[in-house]
Amino acid sequence: MRKVAILGSTGSIGTTALRVLARQRERFIVTALTAHSNAGLLAEQVAAWHPAFVGLVSPNGSGAQPGWNRGAEALVDAATRDDVDIVLNAVVGVAGMDATLAALGAGKRVALANKESLVVAGELALATCARHGGEIIPVDSEHSAILQCLGTRSARDIRRLIITASGGPFRKWDPSRIDAATRAEALRHPTWTMGRKITVDSATLANKALEVIEAHFLFGLPYDRIEVVVHPQSVVHSMVEFVDGSVLAQVGVPSMELPILYSLTHPDRLPDVDVPRFDPVAASPLTFEPVRLDAFPALQIGIDAGRAGGIAPAVFNAANEAAVARFLEGRLSFGGIARAIERALATVSGTAVPTRDDLMDADRRARAVVGELA
Ligand code: NAD
Ligand code: MG
Repeated sequence: MRKVAILGSTGSIGTTALRVLARQRERFIVTALTAHSNAGLLAEQVAAWHPAFVGLVSPNGSGAQPGWNRGAEALVDAATRDDVDIVLNAVVGVAGMDATLAALGAGKRVALANKESLVVAGELALATCARHGGEIIPVDSEHSAILQCLGTRSARDIRRLIITASGGPFRKWDPSRIDAATRAEALRHPTWTMGRKITVDSATLANKALEVIEAHFLFGLPYDRIEVVVHPQSVVHSMVEFVDGSVLAQVGVPSMELPILYSLTHPDRLPDVDVPRFDPVAASPLTFEPVRLDAFPALQIGIDAGRAGGIAPAVFNAANEAAVARFLEGRLSFGGIARAIERALATVSGTAVPTRDDLMDADRRARAVVGELA
């Protein structure tokens, strides 16, 4: 039995993971669950799974039951327990970073949905893996696809990664219309149903920038060998071009169930007849187009932040989190998100080899810059 902790169990990935695990009860047990504030749903999950550890992070903790752990420390506590082999980090935002680092430091497998962890603290995460034997297996569908295509091959055998992007709801819109897009329009994703923050990130393409940085750290490739192509059907989850010119792709219906299951079983596969079946005829036609960088400036800004390294990815991520929150509150325009990120990156500078505290300091300063704008 493999023992799993799910951080962010009440979210889109967390609830999907529990659905997948419900079909694999003879292989996995859930020993820890944490959520931010949805105490009602968390209580239902606790009743169904009986985890040894339950964490409710929200500062007021309303709805917490006796015996539940409270506060942000609950994430790290859950991630480092002896009765946990795999930490599925499905928290949204940099709030998940310390738990990722702590789990890797404790030698755990981190099934990583919380890409923000790796974007902000990629160097630290890799150093922690090297020192303590932890491993990061991606949940993100694109990175899961790449890992599945790679098999036993390493970065030496790869010429190029081709990451697919749905293009989001504004794929064909005029830049001026995109600038004034409303919250309802941004939350209407064409192919995936996800949490609100990543849905907005998919509309700005900031999500794809986060994914390029995530791929850089996961697969050890320089940025000029990671490309993005728009693929509106979200069926080809990503592609790997090998040094001999062969290109492998992983395909399937847009569902997070397979990448979640694979993050738990890699390099093995478990039978799961309930994962949505792929029908190539129904999926046809599959199309690809270039990204319109002028219409989605957050993508290039984010990739440039990745290239710059140091605190820049942390600044990009924090400014994006703060700007998306303000957009969702109706205080910032859609176009204002990328402009706010740009302003933060131009304003906040720092050391080239940041510690965890340097990264959190950069995060705070970036949020302050965005806070002054809206
Ligand atoms: P979500 O908003 O639906 O769920 C987030 C979960 O984290 C909830 O359980 C919430 O209670 C918890 N949480 C929120 N803020 C927290 C905090 N400050 N401290 C502790 N817990 C907190 O988000 P989601 O769509 O499930 O996405 C989760 C992560 O997975 C994100 O990093 C996202 O980019 C990534 N991801 C999601 C999808 C998807 O299909 N939803 C796909 C790929 C990657
Ligand atoms: Mg993705």
